[in-house]
Amino acid sequence: MLRLREVEVRYRTPGGVVTAVSDVSLDVPARGLTVLAGPSGSGKSTLLRVLSLVERPTLGAVELHGAGTGRLSDRARRRLRRREISLVFQNPADNLVGHLTVGDNLRAAAQASGRSARVPELLAQLGLPDTAGWRVPALSGGQQQRLAFGCALARESAVVLADEPTSQLDAASADLVLETVADLARRGVPVVVASHDPRLIALADTRFDLENGVLAA
Ligand code: ADP
Ligand code: MG
Repeated sequence: MLRLREVEVRYRTPGGVVTAVSDVSLDVPARGLTVLAGPSGSGKSTLLRVLSLVERPTLGAVELHGAGTGRLSDRARRRLRRREISLVFQNPADNLVGHLTVGDNLRAAAQASGRSARVPELLAQLGLPDTAGWRVPALSGGQQQRLAFGCALARESAVVLADEPTSQLDAASADLVLETVADLARRGVPVVVASHDPRLIALADTRFDLENGVLAA
């Protein structure tokens, strides 16, 4: 569904060229939870940005639904990303519009990719019933992150990617997010999570280990 072929990402920095990711080839399975595991600095976030078409690799190819994306214009990539891909950031607040209600966040997310949200159904599925009229700050961190995944669902993306979605949460809040991630994956939505949280790794159907920007065999 989403596939990387011999991807390399280099950054020019004042200290010289940094190779963040090198020679990574992988296929994201069309179902279930895929975890990109690895210590801090191993290239997880970089790989997620490449997989989500936010960033172009220095070398190599990114294919979505069997088609290369390298030759697409920035505009075409943005359009594809909006329709097909959701990216959930570490910090819940970065995923939501703080001054909108819970329901309006879901509706806005759906609308941005040309869909319409079934708000009560989504909220029931997220374990957040009857919160449609609440403002975002009334939710706990874990509930906010659940809502962020809900926005991804509302967009009906082909794949949901998340960067360390439990790392900024207390244990109880992290538990809520673990449940949501497992639930999404069970429902057949492919979810790719970058994380070194052992509890998330334990839920993985597929696991890729990164070390110093290279996939471990
Ligand atoms: P992780 O998410 O696993 O912690 P990252 O993908 O953030 O790893 O980083 C991998 C490596 O690439 C690190 O050495 C990091 O410093 C470097 N890196 C990532 N993004 C940039 C950037 N925009 N500019 C320069 N170096 C970067
Ligand atoms: Mg990271």
